[in-house]
Amino acid sequence: MLDVTPFIELNMFGLNVTNLKRDSESKNMSKIIDNWGKLDTHRENHHVKSILKIARCPICKGKQSLNYLNSSLECKCGSKFYLKGNTIDFVSEVQERLSDNRKYIQNRSLANWGRSLHAGAKNEKLNNFPDRWHNYHFIEYLDKKDIYSGDILEIGCGEGIDARIAASKFPNRTYYALDIGENISDLSVRDEEFDNLHYIRGNSLNLPINDSSIDSIISFGVFHHTCDPQKCMIEAFRILRENGSLCIYLYKNHEDNILKYLGVQFEKAIMQVTSKMSISTGRRFCWFISPIILLLFSWPAQVLKKIKRFNEIGRSFPLHWGTTPTSIINDLQDRLLASINFRFSKEEFKGLFFKAGFSDVEIVTTTSGHYGYGKKHRFRPLM
Ligand SMILES: [Zn+2]
Repeated sequence: MLDVTPFIELNMFGLNVTNLKRDSESKNMSKIIDNWGKLDTHRENHHVKSILKIARCPICKGKQSLNYLNSSLECKCGSKFYLKGNTIDFVSEVQERLSDNRKYIQNRSLANWGRSLHAGAKNEKLNNFPDRWHNYHFIEYLDKKDIYSGDILEIGCGEGIDARIAASKFPNRTYYALDIGENISDLSVRDEEFDNLHYIRGNSLNLPINDSSIDSIISFGVFHHTCDPQKCMIEAFRILRENGSLCIYLYKNHEDNILKYLGVQFEKAIMQVTSKMSISTGRRFCWFISPIILLLFSWPAQVLKKIKRFNEIGRSFPLHWGTTPTSIINDLQDRLLASINFRFSKEEFKGLFFKAGFSDVEIVTTTSGHYGYGKKHRFRPLM
C-alpha cells in the first residue's frame, strides 16, 4: 500500500508558518507561568509546558482553571491529572465516570492498541523508522497546502511513527500527538529529544484541549473505533482555530465493490465472536485463521497483482499485501479485535464534516477508504 510513490518532500508546499503569536495564547501562558512553581527546572517540563499551553480539564470542560502542583495537574473542579513520562494523563481520571458502554469500548481500545499492538514501539530505535507512513496518504490524495501548518495535532497517534516523521520534517512547528493508550507515556520518553513533539494521553471524544488552539488536525483511522465518530468531528472542530483544517481517514462500507462488500459482511460476522474474546485469546484466534485468510484473499491477490490486466482487482482484495501469517497478524488483530468498526458510505462520510460545521470539504475515496479534508470558518460561505 505504501510502496508505489516516492516520498514527496512535505516542504514542497512552501508552508510559511513560524510561531503564531496570539493574544489569547500569551494571556493563557502567563496564567500558567504564574502557577509554575518548581516545574521549570527539568527538561521534561518543556514538554509539559507546551501541553499546558493548550490543555483544558476534560471533566468540567475548562470551566475552572488548571494548576500544576507536585507532578500533577489539578483543576479547581477537584480533578487531578498526573504527569507520566513527559506527558499528562487525561484519561485515567475520566475513566471511572464513563457510562458502562463507553467504559467497555474504551477499555477494549486500551487493551487492543495501548497495551498490545502499539506497546512494543517504546523500544524502537530511531534508525528503524521509515521516512513515510500513514499520514503520507493525506499528501498523496488530498492536494492541500495546509495539512501541516501552525500548531498541529494528531488524534490517535498509535506508535508515534507519523508524529516522529512530521516533527523532524517541520522542526519549527509544534506537533502534538494524542492517543488514549497507556503506551503514550513510554513514547513521550522515547522521543523526548524532539523539542517540538509533545505527547498527550487523551480521548478523541472529549479532547483535553482548549477551544480554538490548533491550526491543523490529522487523524488516520481512529474515529471509526470510537462509539461516536460524529462527536469526534465536533470536538475536532471546537479546538481548531479560525481557518484551521482537519484531515481524516476512515473506513468505507465498500458499497461500490461487491468483493470487498462481502468481505465486510464476513468481518462483521467474525467480529460478533472476536469482539467478545479477551485480547490474548483473540490474538491466538487471529493466528489460527491467518492461513485461511491468506488462502482466500492474500495469495490469490498476489497472483492477480502480477498480471497487468488484473493488478487493480488484486489490489482491491482485503489484506492483498499478505505473504505469511506474520505479515498480516497485526492487521487482523487491528480489525477483528476492535470493539467497534464504523464503516461509512461516501455520503455519510461527507455528512460527518458538514454536521460538525466544516466548510471547503473535499473527499477522496480510494480502494481502502475515505480521505477527507475540511476547514473551519466562523461564518460558513453561502452555498
Ligand atoms: Zn475541571
